[in-house]
Amino acid sequence: MKTNLKEWGFPVERKFLVAGPCSAESEEQVMATAKALTQGGISFMRAGIWKPRTRPGSFEGVGEAGLEWMVNARAETGLKIGTEVADPAHVEACLKHQVDILWVGARTSTNPFSVQAIADALKGTDIPVFVKNPMSADVNLWQGAIERLANAGLTRLGAIHRGFSSKIETRYRNAPDWKMPIELMRRMPKIPMLCDPSHICGKRDLIPAIAQEALDLLFDGLMLEVHPDPETALSDAAQQLTPEQFFDLIGKLNLSHEQSDSAAFVKRLSKLREEVDDLDDRLLGLLRDRMDVVRKMGRLKTEENVSTFQPHRWQEIVQDRVRKGIELDLSENVVLQIMQSIHEESIRQQEIHRVNVCQAKGMGVE
Ligand code: PEP
Ligand code: MN
Repeated sequence: MKTNLKEWGFPVERKFLVAGPCSAESEEQVMATAKALTQGGISFMRAGIWKPRTRPGSFEGVGEAGLEWMVNARAETGLKIGTEVADPAHVEACLKHQVDILWVGARTSTNPFSVQAIADALKGTDIPVFVKNPMSADVNLWQGAIERLANAGLTRLGAIHRGFSSKIETRYRNAPDWKMPIELMRRMPKIPMLCDPSHICGKRDLIPAIAQEALDLLFDGLMLEVHPDPETALSDAAQQLTPEQFFDLIGKLNLSHEQSDSAAFVKRLSKLREEVDDLDDRLLGLLRDRMDVVRKMGRLKTEENVSTFQPHRWQEIVQDRVRKGIELDLSENVVLQIMQSIHEESIRQQEIHRVNVCQAKGMGVE
């Protein structure tokens, strides 16, 4: 596996930046984007050729003709080109046109059959492939898709974080849920990770903050949707940037972080880390104490034949803890998530006791 994007044989400075329209729409639009990107020093252009749409009837891409436009734009500007593939026929068309990078979209990485079919079609090549996270926040599915491609012999593999579909978050089109890409980076440290703020945000004004957050989390690069005239775009109009907006954004982002080894910095940081370690120890101790009490409650409920789950009590807990959390400057979402996890574990602990009692009474299930 080639860890560093520079080992992929690509000219990558500081960060890997891929930009271009959501969809290739016309030869003029592809060429105009390519020229604008090259003038600003970008080396990779994206464009969707086959568009996986949630509902039929929306613009579904121009198909193979668009690859010709991209190939012409590459010949004219020297840009490398990339597109999304969702089945073996797409792979075949891209290989025929010597597309430089491919990606597997969020709707496709959700389905192991589709990913395996793509992996089989790519056997014997070593084209760079990025795998977008699946629509749902399932890190195993994401990892599995990358593993299927690795098993087919591909060594230039990366991941793209494009957010997760969610009912809770309303600000973003797809919830960023940063813990998911962070977990994938922990499990697969050799896989370069890009962020696609366009599909996370859904609206262009939210993009700068998400792009910077990804860079601050040490993502290896960004994929951004850039269109010469976003208002008229046939797909994802609200989230595409003009080339000017894109270059303005890139100019303002802090693309690289220093590896400071000044003695004062190292000393201060390690002191703060000790404080965090200590606080985490106390949090774990408190959780253990809470579970001790919870188990006592479990025994009491079992004796009285009262159900483990008490909806009214749970409702009270959520309302009270969220309110207190907000007063303590914690976000509603995070307090809710923490309480849900604690509650899930509390129920599990109580159920262990209940099952033991049932088994002791000879009610075990074979
Ligand atoms: C895209 O990149 O245009 C696209 C369809 O993305 P996703 O698979 O992330 O929805
Ligand atoms: Mn798009």
